[in-house]
Amino acid sequence: MSESSASVIKVIRCIVCPTGCEIQAKKDPKGSIIFEGYTCDRGLEYANQEFFEPKRILTTTIRVENGFLPLIPVRTDKPILKEKLSEALIEIANTKVSAPIEMGEILIENILGLESNVIASRNLTKN
Ligand code: SF4
Repeated sequence: MSESSASVIKVIRCIVCPTGCEIQAKKDPKGSIIFEGYTCDRGLEYANQEFFEPKRILTTTIRVENGFLPLIPVRTDKPILKEKLSEALIEIANTKVSAPIEMGEILIENILGLESNVIASRNLTKN
């Protein structure tokens, strides 16, 4: 974790704990990626994930038929690859579900085979 002269190519704010360490991804003279600024192993693991394979929880809405409201807020129950977010949004936009719906109910199972389910973020009763 010592300071190096390698050039900074990305700054990552660690969100694993409230300390919020600033981690710098650098390229060393041999072309390898190194990380500086983390203060624990969890931070290094987060930086590796965020640099090489960033993932996000997807939050959006799904259309509902027979519902008290026409849309229900949903989210993925696990982070999915950032590069797959647009594709997942298209699948969700092409989906319509029926009320009643319970908070936490799986509305799309294993979206795009990414081992994450799209779940309801609230209850929604019938119209
Ligand atoms: S590097 Fe460790 S101490 Fe720093 S924010 Fe991440 S988890 Fe917290």
